[in-house]
Amino acid sequence: MMAKKSLKRELFEQVMVPNYAPATMIPVRGEGSRIWDQEGREFIDFAGGIAVTSVGHAHPEMLAILQQQGEKIWHLSNVMTNEPALKLAQQLTSATFAERVFFANSGAEANEAAFKLARRYAQNEFGPEKHEIIAFEQGFHGRTLFTVSVGGQAKYREGFGPAIKGITHLPYNDIMALEAAVSDKTCAIVMEPLQGEGGIIAADPAFATRVRELCDQHQALLVMDEVQTGVGRLGTLYAYEQLGITPDIMTSAKGLGNGFPVAAMLTTQAIAKHLGIGTHGSTYGGNPLACAIAGKVLDLINQPQVLSAVNTKSARFKAGLAAINSRYDFCSEIRGRGLLLGCALTEQYQGQAGVFQQAAADAGLMVLVAGPNVVRMAPSLLIPDTDIDAGLELFEQAVAKVVS
Ligand SMILES: *Cc1c(COP(=O)(O)O)cnc(C)c1O
Repeated sequence: MMAKKSLKRELFEQVMVPNYAPATMIPVRGEGSRIWDQEGREFIDFAGGIAVTSVGHAHPEMLAILQQQGEKIWHLSNVMTNEPALKLAQQLTSATFAERVFFANSGAEANEAAFKLARRYAQNEFGPEKHEIIAFEQGFHGRTLFTVSVGGQAKYREGFGPAIKGITHLPYNDIMALEAAVSDKTCAIVMEPLQGEGGIIAADPAFATRVRELCDQHQALLVMDEVQTGVGRLGTLYAYEQLGITPDIMTSAKGLGNGFPVAAMLTTQAIAKHLGIGTHGSTYGGNPLACAIAGKVLDLINQPQVLSAVNTKSARFKAGLAAINSRYDFCSEIRGRGLLLGCALTEQYQGQAGVFQQAAADAGLMVLVAGPNVVRMAPSLLIPDTDIDAGLELFEQAVAKVVS
């Protein structure tokens, strides 16, 4: 076996496909909202593995369920069903609009299933002409070919040959553009309730209402991508609840497994029936280990006091960030909901979100970016107030370095 000492960051360039540019330190351990690297250096985690580790690292109940289910059975295949999958589907359907669930392993896969289902539903019910998908600029839905095709960032599609056809991208929150584009050929409108990767941009409630109306008017399905916003991230179990509209299909992933790969596509019975036997599938999707873990995450998060604490912690974050901004004047807006927050940088710091991120890391704090102009924070939903305060202090140190 290779000595652990030799597993250094430099090895990355020698053995990995170069599509990522990871940080220089290598984390080896985490607990709650703290992480330690190979050198024993401590970090406060405001990144949450990109809005994933919703209950934090090494949560005792997560370790217990991993052990319990691990000792029983990890994997079966969809030739059989299993108890944790049935339980998780029951939890998800009783907590949401949905009546049926399809399990996948990542956000992109859940969206792939959603888009395929929307096309199949429209084709079966109305014929092949009705296949057009409307999606939004800066939207993000994953990195498979269908999901980059629906995604609103052209750079993720470039160089991969012909994208999937029949997809129109419109400006987000632009009711007039939407009214002009939607037609009886539209099979689905795909939106995030709040664009995460696109810069922490919330949907206007009036826009969301109009999306729902236009879908109804044209018999198109509303596909809500809640991969980033779901599982309590915005302070309600799913964000559509706050918009006062109900989707036809919804996807959930990131926070659902607290870092264990699991995702779900949720829909109604009337729509689900169009994915009949043999029409779609996944080897791992819905495996007992993943579902047991996700079930425990939902148990921990889907509680009124936990969800309301997300909103209290959000206010604490926003007040802290506003105070830092009053001293350093680096952001034009502090935005987001729940524990998905963005500091939109002022004109002077355009393009420098990565510089703030690096300065934060140097100070011992992990944050994210959402595009080049927004510093993003998406910590554990259970982050203690003391860690919020300590992390904000480190963030202020980082901001002071960049701004001076
Ligand atoms: C992260 C993300 C995805 C992709 O999820 P993967 O698990 O990386 O495939 C899709 N949609 C949204 C809104 C996301 O934030």
